[in-house]
Amino acid sequence: MTIKNSVLSSIICHGEDIKVKEVNEEIIAGSDIVHVPIRTPVCMTCGEQYYDRRTMQYLEDAENKISKAGVKLKEVGKVLIYEEASHSA
Ligand SMILES: [Zn+2]
Repeated sequence: MTIKNSVLSSIICHGEDIKVKEVNEEIIAGSDIVHVPIRTPVCMTCGEQYYDRRTMQYLEDAENKISKAGVKLKEVGKVLIYEEASHSA
């Protein structure tokens, strides 16, 4: 897949190996993490993701809906916490 206009090289590493990939954008909702699957150009070298205006809008919209609990979410995993007492800084 080729990317027309906008992104031609990574602004982070200047790499030109940028492919449109399906990624999960993470939205934090309290202690929960909500994965929002999107298709967006990703730099294969540094992993930087490039959102276009429409994707940004979509994510903003998703964030709003999630924060207001006005959307049905499917549980696919849990966020767990590791609390072993042996860790000392
Ligand atoms: Zn890059």
